[in-house]
Amino acid sequence: MRVVILGATGSIGTQTIDVISRLNRAGYEFELVGLGAGHNIELLATQIEAFRPQVVSVAEEEGTRRLAHRFPDLKVMAGADGLVGLARLDGVDLVVNALVGAIGLRPTLAALERGRTVALANKESLVIGGELVKAALAAHGGRIVPIDSEHSALLQALSAGRRDEVRRLIITASGGPFLRTPLPELDTVRPEDALRHPNWSMGARITIDSATMVNKAFEVIEAHYLFAIPYERIEPVIHPSSVVHSLVEYRDGSVIAQLAAPDMRIPIQYALVYPDRPDTGLPRLDLATVGTLAFEPLDPERYPAFEAVLFAARRGGTAPAVANAADEVLVHRFLAGEIPFTGIARGIAAALAAWQDDSPLSLEGIRAADAWARGFAQEFAT
Ligand code: NAD
Ligand code: MG
Repeated sequence: MRVVILGATGSIGTQTIDVISRLNRAGYEFELVGLGAGHNIELLATQIEAFRPQVVSVAEEEGTRRLAHRFPDLKVMAGADGLVGLARLDGVDLVVNALVGAIGLRPTLAALERGRTVALANKESLVIGGELVKAALAAHGGRIVPIDSEHSALLQALSAGRRDEVRRLIITASGGPFLRTPLPELDTVRPEDALRHPNWSMGARITIDSATMVNKAFEVIEAHYLFAIPYERIEPVIHPSSVVHSLVEYRDGSVIAQLAAPDMRIPIQYALVYPDRPDTGLPRLDLATVGTLAFEPLDPERYPAFEAVLFAARRGGTAPAVANAADEVLVHRFLAGEIPFTGIARGIAAALAAWQDDSPLSLEGIRAADAWARGFAQEFAT
């Protein structure tokens, strides 16, 4: 199995490499032929030494010079085009997209246009470009296997019945670090509090997105496109311990859940060898230690960004791209101490209210919406 990993140096990327090493020890034959990364040239160089890929891509030209000097036989590309080049590379069986942000969309489309299988962590591909991804899937026969834990759970639970027997998808949400914070205090929570996720260790953006529930709204959109279920039949539920990763309710009243230790390597492995389930020594779940499984409804007052992003999803077109880009900038500004935590949701809603565009979805339209929303969010005064 010849694999390309985009975002190899990130949280999902490094865990994917860990899983591939485990699978190879268990007798699989994964070969890393291409690695894409951003600015962490040192970590990428370590990965190149360990796995000897043929091609890599980095964010900036400067990084290409450093790598070309150190690895004379390696082909080194750069920028968004480099990532697309990796996704299109000849002779590749599987593209793992573990990039963060809108930059992940073009490589997803490029891989699908070549009829490839994409193991998808980059949820932004579906959030901002769901219709384009859907069209690429239909036209070229590629497929997407989700890495996101909730969608991996849904994929597994959906195998228990037929699609027309599904009543609704139930997506679990931990509630993030501020589930019990008194509402008036949300204005003054600090970045270091928001970065302390109770169950998962992830990249900075998705950790803040979990605190605001922007992440959960993104996951509703993701589920909508992955499984062709209408928005009104996808619901979130708060489940603080992240042991149940999502559930499918069928017409007859049966609810099928997937449970596992909260370790992303489990859904990553499922995506890599789907539908196999080899034992590679990943953590097991001890129900007696877990003890209780608790659930509660999502409080819209606590998580106003959830509804704002879903509103963008139902509106369609470039509105989700506006929500995504505004969120990215607002998260950055919150982490830099420029705006309060609650300013993220206000900024997203304001950007969506100000955005007017009803043209059909295109890459060009997404780019324009993204750029506009970044400018808006940068200037937004909470
Ligand atoms: P991360 O920030 O840890 O890693 C992102 C990767 O993308 C890095 O390798 C970085 O170098 C690369 N990258 C960023 N900008 C780039 C650019 N301009 N050019 C080239 N490379 C660039 O992020 P992550 O937490 O691993 O998340 C990756 C994706 O997976 C996101 O869409 C996230 O929502 C999703 N996801 C993550 C988790 C998790 O547990 N971390 C769980 C579910 C879904
Ligand atoms: Mg998730």
